[in-house]
Amino acid sequence: CGIVGVLGDHEVAPTLVEALKRLEYRGYDSAGIATVNNGVLDRRRAVGKLVNLSDLLVHEPLPGKSGIGHTRWATHGAPSVNNAHPHRAGAVAVVHNGIVENYRELRAELAELGISFATETDTETVALMTERYMREGLGPVEAAFRTLDKLEGAFALAFLFDGEEDLIVAARKGSPLAIGHGDGEMYVGSDAIALAPLTDRITYLEEGDRAIVTRKGVEISDANGQRANRQMRRIKLDS
Ligand code: GLU
Repeated sequence: CGIVGVLGDHEVAPTLVEALKRLEYRGYDSAGIATVNNGVLDRRRAVGKLVNLSDLLVHEPLPGKSGIGHTRWATHGAPSVNNAHPHRAGAVAVVHNGIVENYRELRAELAELGISFATETDTETVALMTERYMREGLGPVEAAFRTLDKLEGAFALAFLFDGEEDLIVAARKGSPLAIGHGDGEMYVGSDAIALAPLTDRITYLEEGDRAIVTRKGVEISDANGQRANRQMRRIKLDS
């Protein structure tokens, strides 16, 4: 339902939760964040209000200067910790808005490879498919893009990878996604409102766009795989 991402120069867990709070108005049943810290990918998830996630983070902090976060409005699989995002498969964590319509076919393809499932969500197939391509030898960006090629439906996605402190891959297909530009920091948000306290410099992804986000900036390709120049705008939002 709500997606945020931060490649920061500071500890990002509080920033991610704060950004998710700004998306509360959209409604949600669970929430979670993932970070990479000293190369290690980890996550925390909680059912119910964001305060439950905040409480969990007090007891089990999640260090790291790179991270993604999500508020979930369940469409596939009950609202539970296990079905909450980020979904993780090995070296990959994924947050997802919307629906992957062909997830049953993707599950069948993965099952045939002997890969098993931990959740009932459509989203898990995205993480598992990406992990599969990485195990077959593709780099994280290539594995995410290969997976995106296969997905049908209306969605927005953000990927974070174990061992990659300076990378978020993001994609827009039917659900909005914005890239925020900071000073030595970069952000991702399903709604520019989520990023309002962080930056007013926003690049909106267009339909079918894929973005490779690092602290240096963003590289965007369009639905045909061609390098795309999307204009950065200064937006005015009350923070
Ligand atoms: N279809 C996904 C799920 O049920 C994402 C739902 C959402 O947009 O929050 O987990």
